[in-house]
Amino acid sequence: MTVELMACTPDPERICGEAAAICTHSGNPEKALRAAIRSGHESVLEHASYTFRITGLSRVALAQLTRHRLASFSVQSQRYVPLKPESQHYPDSIQKHGFSRKAARLSRAAMDLYAEMTEAGVPMEDARYLIPQGVETELILTMNVRELRHFFRLRCCERAQEEMQNLADTMLELCRNTAPLLFRDAGAPCVLGTCPEAHPCGSYHVNPPSLRDHP
Ligand SMILES: Cc1cc2nc3c(=O)[nH]c(=O)nc-3n(C[C@H](O)[C@H](O)[C@H](O)COP(=O)(O)OP(=O)(O)OC[C@H]3O[C@@H](n4cnc5c(N)ncnc54)[C@H](O)[C@@H]3O)c2cc1C
Repeated sequence: MTVELMACTPDPERICGEAAAICTHSGNPEKALRAAIRSGHESVLEHASYTFRITGLSRVALAQLTRHRLASFSVQSQRYVPLKPESQHYPDSIQKHGFSRKAARLSRAAMDLYAEMTEAGVPMEDARYLIPQGVETELILTMNVRELRHFFRLRCCERAQEEMQNLADTMLELCRNTAPLLFRDAGAPCVLGTCPEAHPCGSYHVNPPSLRDHP
């Protein structure tokens, strides 16, 4: 999977900071932004957004990603774009348990039948029903900072599926590079010292108190 940050709102910390400063008539946007984040007044974070190009994401992960209703998506169509035989994602556990070859054989058989059917005139939108969910896709995704932080809370967590965690971790790193203040306390909830999961992973991220306090 590759994740490219295509664009983001220029100077996102200043924009969100100005929004926070307007609310409290503060002369210090950065301080107002820190206070807004600390107190959970996150609507000011909706003024900056980020757009990513994601390639090589499985349809399994896509189904999870598109549950985030406040994001915007443009996904490669399986109705108009032929599937490539080699575009299958397998999680590490399949290889670890010795099923790589069997899995590849099954995917190849499905892809061969897909090709045979489409050549015979079955529309791509119908032939795709045969394809395993590991098939990869490509999309462009846009989220505002508030939604990104929410997404990172859910998907950087060890309880999220590995492919989603990898995606979220990569996106978070790209975001942090552009706006450390907006994203320094983003990530799994244990970054802030708590875990709401019924079945915690047991390997909490350990962060310095300064990060938890978001000074
Ligand atoms: C580890 C994990 C396991 C999961 N397992 C399952 C599962 O077994 N089955 C399943 O179906 N899903 C599952 N999900 C998906 C999950 O239930 C959510 O659909 C998904 O994480 C999107 O979260 P969200 O709704 O908070 O986010 P978004 O859609 O991004 O929304 C962001 C926030 O906006 C608000 N919001 C958005 N829409 C509404 C609305 N209509 N009404 C009120 N408030 C709204 C909420 O506060 C929401 O948290 C799982 C997710 C995770 C992370």
